[in-house]
Amino acid sequence: MTSGHETGASTAAAQSSASDEARRLHGVFIQVEIDDSIRGDRELAAKLAEACPVDIFAVGDSGIEIVDENLDECVLCELCLDLAPAGKLRIRKLYDDSVLERA
Ligand code: SF4
Repeated sequence: MTSGHETGASTAAAQSSASDEARRLHGVFIQVEIDDSIRGDRELAAKLAEACPVDIFAVGDSGIEIVDENLDECVLCELCLDLAPAGKLRIRKLYDDSVLERA
């Protein structure tokens, strides 16, 4: 006799929405560091806001603002580095602890 215990392939939809929470966090992979000496430059803020393809920069009342929720969308195009004075803006890649900047 066989113990007729056949568990049919129950379609337990294993929905791994673990990345949902990760998506709520921003600045997990990328951090933009702005030197205090340029932070208040609204003209530069406007140029950065226009240049960045993923809208990480915005023009605020007090100058350059970072749009936190877009940080991890950075495509490392370096357009912002071309606009900012050398050494005053840095893209920090938190996932490999390296930095992009103009010397
Ligand atoms: S490297 Fe490119 S995508 Fe990243 S912040 Fe600068 S302009 Fe935006």
